[in-house]
Amino acid sequence: MEQIEVVVIGGGQAGLASSRELTGLGVEHVVLERGQIGETWRNRWDSFCLVTPNWSLRLPGRPYDGTDPDGFMPREQIVAYLEQYAASFGSPVQEHVEISSLSARDGDGFVLETTSGSYKARSLVVATGAYQRPHRPHGANTLPISLLQIDVEDYSNPKALPPGRVLIIGSGQSGCQIAEELHGSGREVVLACGRAPWASRRIGDRDIVWWLAESGFFDAPFSTLPGPEARLYANLLTTGHDGGHDLHLRTLRDAGVILAGHFLGSDGVRARFAPDLEETIAWGDARYRQLMDLFQRLVVQRGLKPIEILKPSPFVGPGPAEIDLAGFGAVIFASGFRPDFRSWLAWPNAFDDDGFPLQVDGASTVIPGLYFVGIHFLRKRKSSLLIGVGEDATIVAHDIARTKSRAT
Ligand SMILES: Cc1cc2nc3c(=O)[nH]c(=O)nc-3n(C[C@H](O)[C@H](O)[C@H](O)COP(=O)(O)OP(=O)(O)OC[C@H]3O[C@@H](n4cnc5c(N)ncnc54)[C@H](O)[C@@H]3O)c2cc1C
Repeated sequence: MEQIEVVVIGGGQAGLASSRELTGLGVEHVVLERGQIGETWRNRWDSFCLVTPNWSLRLPGRPYDGTDPDGFMPREQIVAYLEQYAASFGSPVQEHVEISSLSARDGDGFVLETTSGSYKARSLVVATGAYQRPHRPHGANTLPISLLQIDVEDYSNPKALPPGRVLIIGSGQSGCQIAEELHGSGREVVLACGRAPWASRRIGDRDIVWWLAESGFFDAPFSTLPGPEARLYANLLTTGHDGGHDLHLRTLRDAGVILAGHFLGSDGVRARFAPDLEETIAWGDARYRQLMDLFQRLVVQRGLKPIEILKPSPFVGPGPAEIDLAGFGAVIFASGFRPDFRSWLAWPNAFDDDGFPLQVDGASTVIPGLYFVGIHFLRKRKSSLLIGVGEDATIVAHDIARTKSRAT
């Protein structure tokens, strides 16, 4: 059994940022990745690109320094960026490693059995992703089995779907982007809508992500949310495709996508939707106004050039109550994700009712030596994003180094 100070699980940006910081502090560690570096990004759909601009890649020690800071990296470039990042500090990543068992030793570290051997580690950093288990809404299992039903992570491109209309259930960033792509490819698309904030891609002469970063929106901690369920709200609707443009429910409706309310279920022949589309739009508009107020305050505080706040166009119409499923080729669930730690970490008490870790600054408050990085709202709203994960990785690595020096 190999004795090692720290095992990091996951070779995405969270695991690599942790590895970079542990390396800088001279803490011996290994990164175990079940696929390859950046595995989750590799598996996103073919035309996938970042929603956040390249300048917002701020991993520790290697902020974006390429020639296209205002661009939006496609999938392959994100993976290449992460591979180069790992190589830049010689991250001890082991790829294609499966963990077969993992246990805590009563305050004396952890024991892992893996396909690359056994480890005894004083600390464990879980960096297995912010978006783990695809969530399907109530009623999902009432759709006819003759219809192809996939989650977003199984979508690759329009041609890979059977011919026919497509029902997308969930209108967060992924649902809207896939709706736009499918509609652009000539498919008729019905989008069952849920609540999400939205804003224009550009406000004044800046990108929306600049406003979110500078106004403190990304820095909001969990305690500022109206309740724990707010962690599961969709991210702000926009896209980085074709250099970035507005993408939200109104732009999709104007393009010809059929918007419906929340998906309720099906009788095997027809899909049913809640009469709540206007309410959903109003919820998004209220978030839009809150954001604009926040940005206006920033303008005043910093003496910036005044910005024009566009008033959302009126939105009337409840959307269809039912749609005949004849002629549909596929249903795509884009209904968000839930944490999945409990399915493989044997410490049920270490997680809250929604499955998020009980932690302070990434350190488990239940299991000594257990850390998390890259979780949505771990410390702040940006904790799971390329712009924010580095800050948390630094804090976690320093805590591990402090604990180590106290123990030796
Ligand atoms: C559709 C979508 C679009 C996004 N777009 C953006 C964006 O534009 N900008 C932005 O900043 N953020 C974006 N995000 C959010 C976030 O940046 C990504 O989810 C990112 O992949 C999170 O990085 P991570 O390292 O935390 O997790 P992941 O990238 O998911 O990495 C976790 C790694 O852990 C490995 N792993 C998991 N379980 C195990 C195990 N048991 N043993 C070993 N290895 C394991 C996985 O193979 C994976 O490689 C997006 C998220 C989604 C879902």
